[in-house]
Amino acid sequence: MNLCDIKTVKQIMAMFHFTFRKEFGQNFLTDRMVVEDIADACCMDENSTVLEIGPGIGTLTYELALRRRRVVSLEIDRGLIPVLDFTLGEFDNVRVINEDVMQTDLEALLAPYFAEGPVSVCANLPYYITTPILMKLLESRLPFDYITVMIQAEVADRLAAKAGSKDYGAITAVLAYYGETEKLFTVPADRFVPAPKVNSSVIRIKLYKERPYHPRDEALLFRTIKAAFGQRRKTLVNALGAGFPELSREQITDTVTACGHDLNVRGERLDIAQFVELSDRIYEILKK
Ligand code: SAM
Repeated sequence: MNLCDIKTVKQIMAMFHFTFRKEFGQNFLTDRMVVEDIADACCMDENSTVLEIGPGIGTLTYELALRRRRVVSLEIDRGLIPVLDFTLGEFDNVRVINEDVMQTDLEALLAPYFAEGPVSVCANLPYYITTPILMKLLESRLPFDYITVMIQAEVADRLAAKAGSKDYGAITAVLAYYGETEKLFTVPADRFVPAPKVNSSVIRIKLYKERPYHPRDEALLFRTIKAAFGQRRKTLVNALGAGFPELSREQITDTVTACGHDLNVRGERLDIAQFVELSDRIYEILKK
């Protein structure tokens, strides 16, 4: 069965009386090469389990099942479950669960798979919820090897941006805390049915096994990053002033100077290591 063939997709849809649900971000991939490239890129270890979010009609799931030991797929749309039973029926290494990933206890679900070997994430993510899903995966602290996802091209540029570039933002810095992100390739909008309004890109995050950053207070690190980007186009000093009303102007300028930054520097110039240093100095002041 060629799940990338639009005629086949339409036949399957008709067979199961399925119609696309816009509210679930349903844009199904129809380019076989792209699907294969994502499945190839998502994890290096054949022995691994792949957590897929949003299998749709099973196009990517199919290729993952051919390549990896196990695939666990979470699909929110109940209407797709009989479709997936049909399209993935030949595999005994695929488990489809009808659940909203945002409501799933990932730790409980994945514990037996982590006990068996490496686990990676691979998905063509629904665009309406890309960042919350990524943050949930990262904040779960589960030791995924890789997170490989297709997302809006513009968001991919932001997530893989370097400090100081125009696309660099708070989410980029937060992501850099958890791992290294690379943009793999871009996919034009016409490779999906229905076609979304924008192009997409595939990014791969290699999660740190041992995180190289050790902030004194992680919540304070994230608060510092949020504050620094909260007032874009303002200097770091002014942005921190707004984000930390409990600090005096002098305390902020002293801290920024002590970190070796010019007082005119903007938050978007700082990489994650520099944010850790900054938040550790703020920590010292706040704990007094
Ligand atoms: N993987 C398929 C493909 O590449 O053709 C479909 C990808 S489509 C962009 C996103 C899929 O995620 C849809 O099947 C949608 O129903 C599902 N989805 C949306 N929100 C979800 C959620 N919160 N939890 C699980 N699945 C979700």
